[in-house]
Amino acid sequence: MAAYHEARARGGAGLIILESSRPWADDVSASYYVDSSTDACIPGYRGVAEAVHKHGCKVFGQINHGGRIAYTHEGMHIVSHAPSMVPDHRFHCMPRVMSADYVRDIIGAFAAAAGRMAEAGLDGAELTASHGMLIAQFLNPQTNFRDDEYGGSEENRFRFVSQMIAATRQVVGNDFVIGMRISAEEHEPDGLDQAAWLNICRRLNDERELDYLNVTVGSMMGLGGSVHVVPPMFIDHAYTAPQAGCIRREVRQSVLVTGRINQPQLAEQVLAEGQADMCGMTRALISDPEMPNKARAGKLDDIRACIGCNQACIGHYHQGVRISCIQHPLSGRELMLGSHPAVTTSRKLLVAGGGPAGMKAAAVAAERGHRVVLCEKSGRLGGQALLAQTLPGRAEFGVIVDNLRREMELHNVDIRLNTAVDSALIETEKPDAVIIATGAIPYRPDLDISQDTHSVDAWQLLKDEVKPGASVVVADWRCDWVGMGLAEKLAREGCHVRLCVDGEMAGQNLQKYLRWHWAGVLHKLDVEVIPYARLYGADGDTAYFLHNTSGEAIVCENMDTLVIAQGHQPETTLEQQLADTDVEIHLAGDCLSPRSAEEAVYEGLMAAREI
Ligand code: SF4
Repeated sequence: MAAYHEARARGGAGLIILESSRPWADDVSASYYVDSSTDACIPGYRGVAEAVHKHGCKVFGQINHGGRIAYTHEGMHIVSHAPSMVPDHRFHCMPRVMSADYVRDIIGAFAAAAGRMAEAGLDGAELTASHGMLIAQFLNPQTNFRDDEYGGSEENRFRFVSQMIAATRQVVGNDFVIGMRISAEEHEPDGLDQAAWLNICRRLNDERELDYLNVTVGSMMGLGGSVHVVPPMFIDHAYTAPQAGCIRREVRQSVLVTGRINQPQLAEQVLAEGQADMCGMTRALISDPEMPNKARAGKLDDIRACIGCNQACIGHYHQGVRISCIQHPLSGRELMLGSHPAVTTSRKLLVAGGGPAGMKAAAVAAERGHRVVLCEKSGRLGGQALLAQTLPGRAEFGVIVDNLRREMELHNVDIRLNTAVDSALIETEKPDAVIIATGAIPYRPDLDISQDTHSVDAWQLLKDEVKPGASVVVADWRCDWVGMGLAEKLAREGCHVRLCVDGEMAGQNLQKYLRWHWAGVLHKLDVEVIPYARLYGADGDTAYFLHNTSGEAIVCENMDTLVIAQGHQPETTLEQQLADTDVEIHLAGDCLSPRSAEEAVYEGLMAAREI
């Protein structure tokens, strides 16, 4: 954690706000979380503070109690506690009602946790009232039905947070910053809307001990609101800034805003328009820890912009593994990988394939000091990223291509388009080693599909090579962006779409916030999703699927076009050509096994480090 944050501080960040910690032993988060409920957290926080301060960067902690919003811990559901007995719609917890003594204990726990952060050398602490967490549950009349001094009137509902701010100041003294994270709007039917939060902010304005507000949106009380916790690429850049601006006009405290602000130009615009005093840029710094330094130096084109894919950052977090970035695998691996070691002997490398794996391999190998030629058989760099960006709301995926191209340019990779690598080219170029990153081609299983069925491959549609009929059945084996994206594209073009997925749900293999948002889009477009459906065959206008668990047939009649989205198979032609030669080869990405851009980029990077 210290190494991760030190990399951002070294990269020029002015302030780092650490992930939220839990101040109360019974309110645990996922199996891995920061526990600020005892003094045992102090040495760890001190290590982070020292690492970050070395680079002139400030660091705050964050303190949160989830209330009724409770993850499982070590596989079991915890007993959750909340102002009133109102269940949530994401984790499905029925909470116990907090006694007034328990409420006061929690107030003391927040203050004590902040005290530990101050003792460890942190510069401030942020109390989490955002995302429908405990503080928000007290503020919300739909989740707080108490009839004691903490419920009933607006003033009583506010008492919990007001006492918490006062107690925290008492413990930390005057030189320590106290902030509060809030959602300007919770985007949930029972959540606090913009007007309610503005009203709360007017009260917070009178809290003299509160120094700043960190404004976001969303709530973890339901799936729709949760999407905004880490908004995916479908959602506009800096979309929270206008709401932060409304709040800023109401309060004397400084306002920080977060929410898809992925570039310094955008942050500059938010500040210039007076919508906030500071911009929080979490994923921007996961994707490029050096972003602030590059911005200061005017090297805006060198910034590896976050594309909002959510895959390796929050996606990894939800899997209980260290966060990273699909474009920058060094993130989260600061201790394991560090920076790329320079080579002692420069070798000539030939990279076959200009998709994400090949581009990353070429950039890293050249950065290390090798002389690198990258050959792409088509006329464009990007591989499957070029297909992904054609889907509705996915245009930003193409930014990964721009970022990787720039990484190659910075390290003088010799890029040759319209050049396929084969034995003859290798004979001419005489490289010391070849990195094969030739990607994948569509996989078409041997199924019983009759001649009179209009069946097309997913890639043909993505490339606009064919026109579908009015009623389309998409047979989606991978349960990822291809199936959901094509369903949306075709529905928007006026087709009736049945999306048959060979899994539990559409987008099963996508990060959940992205999937939930996309599920809402498909629902609005009347796409019919049929889960547990393994493609079996087709005859004329009828497609047959096998229900995965019952073994019974799923029959889709009156179909005009069947879209075969059954995944990919590795492109191994070059590997086979070189198999019996003494050419040194390294493989990366889909040519090993078709997966996603994350594995491709990681394996490209690792291949380049091995040589
Ligand atoms: S994994 Fe995707 S969303 Fe996460 S930081 Fe990287 S580019 Fe951004």
